[in-house]
Amino acid sequence: MEDERVEVVIVGAGLAGLSAAYVLAQEGVDTVVVERGDYPGAKNVSGGRIYMHPIRHYFPELWEDAPLERHVTKETLTMMGENSSTSITLDSDRFREKPYHSYTILRSRFDRWFGEKVMEAGAFVLPKSRVDDLIMEDGRVAGIVMGEEDEIPADVVVAADGVLSLMAEKAGLRQAQEPEHFAVSVKEVIELSSKTIEDRFNLGTGEGAAQLFFGAVTQDMMGGGFLYTNIDSISLGLVVGIESLMEREPKIEVHELIEQFKARPEIRNLIADGDIVEYSAHVIPEGGINAMPKLYSDGILVVGEAAGFGLNMLLTVRGMEFAVASGVMAAETIKKAREKQDYSAASLAHYEKLVKDSFIFKDLHTFRDVLNVLENPRLFNYYPEAVCGIFEKLMWIDENPKAKISSTIIREGVSKFLNWSTIRDGLGMLRI
Ligand SMILES: Cc1cc2nc3c(=O)[nH]c(=O)nc-3n(C[C@H](O)[C@H](O)[C@H](O)COP(=O)(O)OP(=O)(O)OC[C@H]3O[C@@H](n4cnc5c(N)ncnc54)[C@H](O)[C@@H]3O)c2cc1C
Repeated sequence: MEDERVEVVIVGAGLAGLSAAYVLAQEGVDTVVVERGDYPGAKNVSGGRIYMHPIRHYFPELWEDAPLERHVTKETLTMMGENSSTSITLDSDRFREKPYHSYTILRSRFDRWFGEKVMEAGAFVLPKSRVDDLIMEDGRVAGIVMGEEDEIPADVVVAADGVLSLMAEKAGLRQAQEPEHFAVSVKEVIELSSKTIEDRFNLGTGEGAAQLFFGAVTQDMMGGGFLYTNIDSISLGLVVGIESLMEREPKIEVHELIEQFKARPEIRNLIADGDIVEYSAHVIPEGGINAMPKLYSDGILVVGEAAGFGLNMLLTVRGMEFAVASGVMAAETIKKAREKQDYSAASLAHYEKLVKDSFIFKDLHTFRDVLNVLENPRLFNYYPEAVCGIFEKLMWIDENPKAKISSTIIREGVSKFLNWSTIRDGLGMLRI
């Protein structure tokens, strides 16, 4: 490729990069998106489910015919003990109201389509190209370097290169990270017919289920499992904190954990006769606001997961809507900077203001202590086991006279939940 100056280079064609590119292209800004995968989506991994309400207004025309999977009408949280599990399911008509609250999504399908829309809007998406470095001129970012020779000089670079952002690091915006700020995940996409999925999960046509699991599934380690129903497949996976994994004795590999997860009766009947059509592994940010890099410098902005915008709260996993919103905010900032032809840090600081005034920063701030709560090992062994134990006692009938429901709950509840550790944990939970 010849060295050709452009106004904006975006590194990474994930949701953050493509959202920024789409807005810029519509404005006629000369934009190139550089993606190392064979096509947008080829390297992207999400559970996943995307929450629409925070981002629908950004490009309403796009969402109309976007290749989203099922709208989620059923939410389940499952606490897993060694040999039992207890689930809470919310099946709400509110989730059936249009416009829908959230959709399951397959990124390989969605991002590829989004990449095409970005091209139609006028930006150029360059796949199969890894960015290795930044061009630095007088201490400011002035473009990107691919391999030994290829360079694209630009007025501004958008680092949308995901969780391990090399670009943020090269620009000196991010320090070396702690293992506790990351989790590792494995995910399988298991093909089943649409009818089988709707029958097994008791869903209406087009409706979807989302299920999160915690407890014995990660064998005392921080993390959990997830399951999402797509149109004709199920996304099933596990997330485990890297630090917990490193400290665990005896050692265990994440792929062994997912095999054990799939063998559990709660899962094996749901995926029976399905074919694995996709297997992927990925890193997830867990540091939240505490691990956020500086978001801008002279000639560069950092968006999406590259900026650490992810939030796992046990009940919900979020990141995609942050990626879309931050991409749009970066584009808005660039449009403003372009009017003044000023891409200095002072000019690009507007992006940080937009992020701080938005739901992204507000939610990350509200849940800034979530990692401390999630690091409590009792969450992954003691509590799920205790809940399953009490519930099992209530349900069990044998030849002996049965105790009153109230006395079973009081006896079991007091013995399991009224001690110093659990009181301390309860107080800790008040932080989130
Ligand atoms: C297992 C799992 C489950 C998840 N579940 C959910 C969920 O249910 N809901 C939710 O909202 N979020 C979920 N997330 C988080 C969500 O996937 C991310 O927040 C989101 O993908 C971030 O988008 P992004 O565009 O910032 O980064 P990415 O989607 O990671 O895109 C980054 C892009 O940059 C490219 N790239 C990287 N380095 C370079 C380079 N040097 N040169 C060129 N290209 C490069 C990559 O190939 C990739 O295409 C999940 C994540 C994982 C791993």
